[in-house]
Amino acid sequence: MSIPNRSQQRKDMVSLLERMGISDSRVLQAMGIVERHLFVPEFYRFQQHGDPYGDYPLPIGCDQTISQPFVVAYMLEKMKLIPGEKVLEIGTGSGYVAAVLDEMGVEVFTIEIIPELARRATQALSSRVHLLPGDGYSGWQEKAPFDAIIISCAPTEIPRILIGQLKENGRMILPVGKFSQRLVILKRKDGKIQLKEDLAVRFVPMVKSRK
Ligand code: SAH
Repeated sequence: MSIPNRSQQRKDMVSLLERMGISDSRVLQAMGIVERHLFVPEFYRFQQHGDPYGDYPLPIGCDQTISQPFVVAYMLEKMKLIPGEKVLEIGTGSGYVAAVLDEMGVEVFTIEIIPELARRATQALSSRVHLLPGDGYSGWQEKAPFDAIIISCAPTEIPRILIGQLKENGRMILPVGKFSQRLVILKRKDGKIQLKEDLAVRFVPMVKSRK
């Protein structure tokens, strides 16, 4: 079996993202560096089972998936992130999005509800990334407010508590809906909330913890 050339695969993935319309150089650069294959289970690291750099989601165990590269790039680009900003991600999963955010030079806080995935992501991620095993519906009050909140799983409506954890000029992006979902982009400006519906997407549901 030939060993895949990972850096070439990343270059190809980034060129595809550019052709698909992604232009934020910080996002493209970070996705060109982060080793996506290390965030998928070993079974999927080789092409015969699915290419870790292909533009599709892949299973990561516990019935969850690592998001498709285009959707990751699209969501991060929409947040117009600047190095040094504080970002909360909900739904760490494999840790891939958190790793890209970390590579972009923002301060990353990420929450994962499935203990097994939280444990694995902790091992995969740099110690710079702050990971909280638990339910993201209540956000991370002690670390708030955030410049941006990115939700990697789909609630049926926008969790209000999270809006309260955004800074003035803060942004949030999340998929909303049960069967048919849309990305929603939310901005907090002059104390008011602006909402915009965007792409149709498909994410795993944001679940509520059973207490
Ligand atoms: N960004 C991840 C996507 C993982 S899929 C990646 O690139 O791998 C979404 C994740 O959201 C799953 O791991 C799921 O367990 C998690 N999740 C679902 N509901 C949640 C909640 N209420 N709080 C925190 N995480 C949640």
